[in-house]
Amino acid sequence: MTVQPSGSDSAPMIWPHGKRCAVCLTFDFDAESLWLAREPENAERLATLSQGRYGAKVGIPKILDLLRQEGLKGTFFTPGWTVDAHPGKVEMILKDGHELGHHGYVHYWPDPEKPSQILDEVDRGFEAMQRRFGVKPVGYRPPGSESCHYLLELLTQRGILYNSCFKDDIHPYRHILRDGRPGPIELPEHPSLDDWSYGTSHLRFPRPIFGADHVLGIWQEEFRMIREWGGVYVLVMHPQVTGRPMRMAILRSFIAFTRQFDDVWYATGREIAEAFAEQEGRSECWNSIASPPGSAPASRRGAGLS
Ligand SMILES: [Zn+2]
Repeated sequence: MTVQPSGSDSAPMIWPHGKRCAVCLTFDFDAESLWLAREPENAERLATLSQGRYGAKVGIPKILDLLRQEGLKGTFFTPGWTVDAHPGKVEMILKDGHELGHHGYVHYWPDPEKPSQILDEVDRGFEAMQRRFGVKPVGYRPPGSESCHYLLELLTQRGILYNSCFKDDIHPYRHILRDGRPGPIELPEHPSLDDWSYGTSHLRFPRPIFGADHVLGIWQEEFRMIREWGGVYVLVMHPQVTGRPMRMAILRSFIAFTRQFDDVWYATGREIAEAFAEQEGRSECWNSIASPPGSAPASRRGAGLS
């Protein structure tokens, strides 16, 4: 089976303000939607649903408090279902000046065999944010952090600036669609920087729970090296996981650890994607001057380094 990759070669970015790396705090505000999408029967399993509800009820207010104390802005990828079910919490997020990102509608994982469901998830998600808050998100993280060619094409068509779910880099890059056209910018992430891997369990799907030493060990060491390599550190958190008491302490400790370095750019997904696009524009302009007519097209990637 041949596989057509969607991205270009890996290349570092020159970060704004002379910084060496970027830290992007992202929160997937799934609430109950994740449990409903996984099994529709969960609609009648109130205690299972309550695990997701915790994210809205306790997680979001606690996370917003911490971000306010730290003076940091986050990106909240929120399904349209959550926007409709917990508008008050989404309003709190927006009031504090955080970025609202698109995260589907019911949180169905993109299935290339079901293009109409993919279309529905994307369009209903936009519709809910527009109807409730007049917001048009520019960032997208697919439910389940999975993607496919059709979804990338659709996101491009809908004007999405950036996507965040691929695991093939530590630097932002530009997707290339099947027909060779440029797609969204990618802010890559990884399960090692996802709280879901360490902090959630369910009696019917038991998983080990990991403590602070374990999680901080991984998060901090990854940070050390991503900083050294000049990459983007995309932390993926869920209010129903990181909103738990001990995990709020982990996040606070992690932020304190990164504060020891004065060359870290804390930015939202949108800010990072805009910085990438700006650099790419400058680089393409330079390449078009440098390339004689008729020569090979300039790399879409060109992040200003060569
Ligand atoms: Zn999610």
